[in-house]
Parts: sequence; structure tokens; C-alpha cells
Amino acid sequence: MTEQIKIHVLHTGLVKVDKALPFHGVYRNPLAFTGLFRTEKNQVTLPVSSYLIEHPKGLVLVDTGWNKQVRRSNWAELGLQVQINTGYLPAGWAIDERLQALGYRPEDLDYVLLSHLHCDHVSGLKQVTHAKHILVSEPEWRVANHLPLVYLPSEWHGVDVQTYQYQDTGIGPTGESYDVFGDGSLLQVHTAGHATGMSATLVRGAEGRYVLLAADVGYANRSWEEMLTPGICTSRKAAITSLGWVRDMAHDADCIEALANHDPHTDPHLITLPY
Ligand SMILES: [Zn+2]
Repeated sequence: MTEQIKIHVLHTGLVKVDKALPFHGVYRNPLAFTGLFRTEKNQVTLPVSSYLIEHPKGLVLVDTGWNKQVRRSNWAELGLQVQINTGYLPAGWAIDERLQALGYRPEDLDYVLLSHLHCDHVSGLKQVTHAKHILVSEPEWRVANHLPLVYLPSEWHGVDVQTYQYQDTGIGPTGESYDVFGDGSLLQVHTAGHATGMSATLVRGAEGRYVLLAADVGYANRSWEEMLTPGICTSRKAAITSLGWVRDMAHDADCIEALANHDPHTDPHLITLPY
């Protein structure tokens, strides 16, 4: 039997945000994404995805969803950031609960890869601290520890997070990526814009076939069809450049699936590609 890579698309929370946050430019108020002075009818609730990759070289988790603390209190987990996003975590949706349902414990994880350190991606980190390696890009780590209004360093306080440097590989919108296993099958591709050091995850199987986990380059797959950047961006220029790259990748005949982290039309499912 030939070896396979299996990607479990998981929902590890829901997030309620202002409609202007996923799709910049559709609304006229430049601060609409903050939700300030905006009413309930301007809010949308979107899934928060994590991905479990069963790879012949190791078990890998991409992003962690919400911490179980949001079930008791959003304020306790998010503080003032509840103004921008409110988290929901139905029973069974926490990352450790999702892993358990698939027969895994957090200590079975060889890698946790964090696309970026915004709260809806890293809040669940403390539920998988026993993973063997927890990795984020060096530029994302540097910025996240110095922008306390945008990031919540308490979410990784006391956790052994290791950083990697992007290499000049010619892959991705800036030509920079990091090869997790060193064989080209799992790449963290630098996709700046929404967050300075953000990465998309490119999973490459046999015969050039691939799956692109596009993080928050676009909030939904329609983002790259209509070239809509997220409301929150550290660089609009970089965000558009990243979106153009994802669009190109998503339209390639070798692309099995390209997935936006928060697409309301993406249900949890399993993707299999030959290794
Ligand atoms: Zn997000």
C-alpha cells in the first residue's frame, strides 16, 4: 500500500466579528472592523479551523482554536479584545477534545505549527503544551510580543514556543518559506499582510499535487476570488500580494483544495493525498 498524507479539517471554535473584519473595503467606515458603535446586525459568526495532519514523518497540528476558558468567560480569556471578537466553543470542539475523538493525545503531536499568533489561532495552545515541538515564525514571534493591544502574550506565557527563520526558496508571495521535514512535503510559506510573520501551510504529495491551508490570507475562499483582504492588516500591500499568490495556487490544476481558515462554507472533512 502506498503511503498517504491525511489532513483532518477541524472546527475548534466559532468567532463573532463585525462584517467589516473579514472583508475590507466592502464597508465605508474605516474603523468598522473594530465593531465600535456598530450594532448586532453588523455581526457575523464564522468557524475557527485547526488542521490535524497525519504525515508519514510525524503528526502535525496547525493552529489550536479557542481555549476552554471561553466557555466560562470571554472576558477572562480575551480582556478588551472581546470588543473585536467573541469566541464560542461548543462541547467537544476544543482541540484536545477533537484529538481525543481521533484517538490522539496532545503528547502524540510531533509539531504544533502556529500560522500566526492572533487569539483565535493560539488561544487553545495551553491544551496542547505536551506536543514535542511548538513552532512559529521568528518575525511573527517578535511582533506579537511587542503589540499587546493586537496580541495576548498571556496565551503563550510559560509555553515552550520555538521559532524558525524563513529561507529564501522562491516559494510564496515573498519567495520565503520554511521546510518542516526537510523533504518539501510540508512548508510554512510566508504570507504577510494580515499579520507580519503569518504563514500559510503548503502540503505537497506525490506528482506535484498539493493542499494549501491559507490561514487568514483571506477569511473565506471568496476572498481570493474577489480579491478582498481582511479588515485587520499590518500591511495592505503585503496582504494583496499574498492574496494574489493564494489565488494563483488555488486555481492551479495540481491544487486539490485551498482552504481559508474562517470560511463559513467549509465543513469539517478529511483530505487524503498520496505521499
Ligand atoms: Zn483568524
